[in-house]
Order: sequence, then C-alpha cells, then structure tokens
Amino acid sequence: MITVFKNGRILDPSQDLDIIGSIILEDGQVTEIGEDVEIGEYDELYDCSGLWITPGLVDLHTHLREPGEERRETIKTGTQAAAAGGFTTICCMPNTSPALDNPAIVDFILDKAASPEAGGIFVQPIGALTKGQLGLELADIAALRQAGVAAVSDEGCPIQDASVMMRAMEFCLQLDLPIMVHCEDVSLTVDGCMNDGPTSAMLGLNGIPRSAEEIMIMRNCVLALNTGCRVHFMRVSTWGGVEMIRQFKYLGAPITCEVSPPHLTLTDEAIGEFNPIYKTTPPLRSEVDIDILMQALADGTIDAIASDHSPYAPFEVEVPFEEAPMGMSTLESTLGVILTHVTHKGILTPLETIHRLSTGPAQILGLEAGTLIPGKTPVAQMTIIDPNLEWTFDAQRTFSQGKNSPFHGWSLTGKAMVTYCGNEVYRDPMLSSERYELALA
Ligand SMILES: [Zn+2]
Repeated sequence: MITVFKNGRILDPSQDLDIIGSIILEDGQVTEIGEDVEIGEYDELYDCSGLWITPGLVDLHTHLREPGEERRETIKTGTQAAAAGGFTTICCMPNTSPALDNPAIVDFILDKAASPEAGGIFVQPIGALTKGQLGLELADIAALRQAGVAAVSDEGCPIQDASVMMRAMEFCLQLDLPIMVHCEDVSLTVDGCMNDGPTSAMLGLNGIPRSAEEIMIMRNCVLALNTGCRVHFMRVSTWGGVEMIRQFKYLGAPITCEVSPPHLTLTDEAIGEFNPIYKTTPPLRSEVDIDILMQALADGTIDAIASDHSPYAPFEVEVPFEEAPMGMSTLESTLGVILTHVTHKGILTPLETIHRLSTGPAQILGLEAGTLIPGKTPVAQMTIIDPNLEWTFDAQRTFSQGKNSPFHGWSLTGKAMVTYCGNEVYRDPMLSSERYELALA
C-alpha cells in the first residue's frame, strides 16, 4: 500500500524542515520526504495544497481518568479526542483510581489503548512517584520503568517533603527517568480556589497566591541542579516561576517546562460571576503573566505546549464555584487555540509552533514521536492541518466525555484535518474535497 501526500507545506522541526513538498508512505511508514520526491506507482494520492503536513502532535499531559473514573473519561474516548485534536502520542497522568503506581496498571492502560475500539494513537503512561500518590514512600519506580513508563510524576498530589523529593531525584537519576512536577506548596493553598488578587478579593473567594507555585518551582529547580535529575515542570502559570526556570536553565539545571492553552489566553477575570468552568490548577493568573509566558514560549524557555486535558462529568462541574473540581477539557481545542492566539499573532512561526506541540515534547521524554524522518518512529505519525480554516469550537460535539471547556463557542482559525498513525485514525468532516483531493491509481 503506497500513499502519496503532495504539494503540502511540510513542517518538521526534527530536521528543521519548512518546504512545499511530498511525503510517500509505504505500508504505514514514511519512506520518502522532500521537495523533489519522484512519484511513481501509488495506491492513493492526496493533494495537500494549502495544508500543513507535520509530525503527529505529542501531548505530555493528559488525564485519561481510566481506571477508576470512567464517568469523566475512558481510554477509548480520550484517545478518540486526542486523534481529533491532531495528537498521535499522549502521555497519561498517574492520578487515576487506583493511582498508576504498579506495572499491572501500566499493562492495563497499554492494552486498552491498543484495542481496536480506541482512538488508534499511542498512549505513554506516566507512573506515580510515590505509592498511592501519598507523597511519603517512593513507588517501585524501577518496576514501573521496566513496564514502560516514560517518566514519573506527583501530578495532583505534589510531594511536600523536600527530603522525599531529593531521594526521588537521586533514585530517578540512576534510572535515567525524568520526573514531571506539579508545583504547589499546599500550606499556602488550603481552601484557595482561584488566583489571589483583586478579582478574588472582589468575589470574596479564598485566593491561591503565586508564591505557592513559585516556592515549589524554586525548590525543585535547586534539587534538579544539585542532583542532576531531569525535571519537567508541568503547566507553569506565573511570570516569576518562568523567570526562575530561565535562570536555572542558565545555571545548567537539566530542566524543561510546559504551558497549557488556558494559561496563555485567559485571566482570573474570566471567572466573572463565579463560573466554575474557569477553575483550574494552577489558577488562571493575570495579563502580566500571559505576556511573560508568551515571551518565554517564543524564546524557548518554555519547551512545550501541553493540553493538561482534565475532563469531568457534567454533574461534577455544575456546582457552586467553591465546590467545583479544578481542570478543563482541552484536547480537541489545543491546536486551534494555539494557532489562533499564538501563531497567527506572530508569537511563534509555524515551524516553532509544531516544535512546541510535537518535536519538543517528544524530545523531553525521549519518545519515538515528533518526527517525519523515515524509520525514526515505529509507524508514521503525521497530522495534516488546515492553518486557515475558520471554525467555532463546540464542546458539546467532542469525542471527549468532558464538556468542561473554557473555549466553548470560541471562533478559531486552524484545525487538524487528518490524523495519521500507521493508518488514518481521524478525518475531519469539514475537510473539503477541493482542498484535499483523493486520486486512486
Ligand atoms: Zn494535570
């Protein structure tokens, strides 16, 4: 089976490629890529004029909720949502029920993700750092690594005790396994439900100070520098936190970080009349934070954009603000929001955009993804994007069970039209035949 994609704008940051050219896939694997590829016999030919052809997007930070919280999402619906969002590899977080702290759960997730009913993309489990994510005793990280986790994390339940974290880093350094950290000093966030500032004062809600995040970023930067363990900071939200990461990178700490779309586009003022859809962790901050996050994204201090897809069941979010859970459903809006509010505004070039959404995240965890170089991935992972398609995001019409999106009703420009992971796993109904002609041999 030979499939040819021609006349597309090929954006592959792994080979610093930004050309108009063709890609040939043979039996689900890239065999040729370039400006002057000779097209011989083929079974299918697609004309990608006006479209981008990129490595499949890679998400470092997804909550698939299974096992244990299937009312919110399942591996099936979460991977389908990922494919529709242009992702071919996603990393799922360990705060499931039970926590992802033993090899049996890794196997369970990999089996479910590979089943024919699932979305057809790769799921990379992230193991729990401590047993039951209780922050006290390290999980059997060596066994988790053996079972196939790409990193370990305390996501959701950050380790408070510095000595436990230091031991974790010393141990993970020996295993050459990165730690992904959610930074929060919980002694400063008790009862807090939104950013501490003028808006929280006006609404009379308990605030979460930026210090809660920044103190933990500082501690983890210091520990990473001194232990040598690779540490990845998940969805940073404050300008102070980003500046610390910038400084510790300069000092040689082996650290990376990500930002999520809500923290680049929304401030705490969006909460308005106590709308729980805008409740997340870390909380939405201010315009100044957005400005610095955008700058850091552009200069490479921020290595990756991650969805932090956190779906909830409707009954869980239709409650008063203070009782609502923290998190937003984002897999199917991430690319559109970033193209509209970052790329089309000139903050990132198209190639840099794909770097932050694909090659960068793959490199952080050493995943076989984020590249179109022949033979570098087990099967071809590719996303075809219409950068200029104007559409309205409708959270009610998503594959994800989580309809808790702050981007519902937003007008966006740019969308994943076809997602390819060994074979075609998603094709958008809005893809017009004039833009993407199929010619059968
Ligand atoms: Zn998360």
